[in-house]
Amino acid sequence: MKIYNEIDLYRYNTMKLHSIARIMYEPENVDELLAIFRKLKKEGTAFYLLSAGSNIVFGARIERPIVYLMSFNTNMSFGEDGTLECGASVRIQSLLEKMKEFSLGGIEYLASVPSSVGGAVYMNAGRGRKMKRSISDYIESVRYLDVADMQIKNIYGNDGYLYRTSPFQSLNTVILSARFKFVKQDVDITNRLIKERLVYSQRYLSADKPSCGSVFCLMNPVIMRLLRGTGYGGAIFSKKTSNWISNIDNAKVGDIEVLIGKAIRWHKVFFSKYKVEIRFFR
Ligand SMILES: Cc1cc2nc3c(=O)[nH]c(=O)nc-3n(C[C@H](O)[C@H](O)[C@H](O)COP(=O)(O)OP(=O)(O)OC[C@H]3O[C@@H](n4cnc5c(N)ncnc54)[C@H](O)[C@@H]3O)c2cc1C
Repeated sequence: MKIYNEIDLYRYNTMKLHSIARIMYEPENVDELLAIFRKLKKEGTAFYLLSAGSNIVFGARIERPIVYLMSFNTNMSFGEDGTLECGASVRIQSLLEKMKEFSLGGIEYLASVPSSVGGAVYMNAGRGRKMKRSISDYIESVRYLDVADMQIKNIYGNDGYLYRTSPFQSLNTVILSARFKFVKQDVDITNRLIKERLVYSQRYLSADKPSCGSVFCLMNPVIMRLLRGTGYGGAIFSKKTSNWISNIDNAKVGDIEVLIGKAIRWHKVFFSKYKVEIRFFR
């Protein structure tokens, strides 16, 4: 297990914020993962789980221990029943490559998302709300550590998933792996769909500057459109993409909070519903 003290999290978050974590653990297999959670549980210490860091805004300093989950389970195996078991630490792009080996498809729209499989399951990553497509469409089961009793358990099926919501968001759990049943698909079609997604992402999303993707998962689109180009400190609501904050000049967590606060105030003025999608680790 790797242990980092006073580490700058710059390379661990896609918003590219400088943040100092007092301590970060990087378990390199499931046994090490269990050992670290046993220790934290025994001490009664609260912790943060970090995967690819593409949906997290870090505070300037983080006292709570962070458990970094990108190394403990990178396994992928294809079962005789046509399912693909995939470790939580696997990057979505590696999963897509593996799917091609078995002529499987279905989640090409995630090709532009800098996510881990664990993070994608936790966030139920997918397309925009109207598209009604997300990674949970293909979930057969998810294996997880229940930190409450330190038992490894499974959730079968995909009933508890909604738009950008998974059952794990209300549980104290660590996703270990997921078993997917993807659709049979010719590799040429998969390659074409991936290419189309990357072109779309380049054309319509502000992926050229550090960001966390969409800020809100429930919002008033008119308000978000009007906020385009509004900046504070080193952060700005993208001029190109609604509901998207970019780090354009060494932004700080406070800059991002001010922008989100401004959007929330406008939602309150117009009695519009909102829900912030980005997670804050402070
Ligand atoms: C350029 C860009 C484009 C994006 N496009 C999309 C998009 O099209 N669709 C979409 O849905 N999202 C998109 N996002 C947002 C983000 O990529 C997703 O939410 C992603 O699934 C987060 O995964 P992650 O591995 O980065 O998780 P992290 O950001 O590291 O963590 C996110 C949350 O999941 C929890 N978590 C992570 N791993 C585990 C685990 N193994 N067990 C339990 N909890 C865990 C963390 O504690 C945290 O609360 C985009 C982001 C960027 C930067």
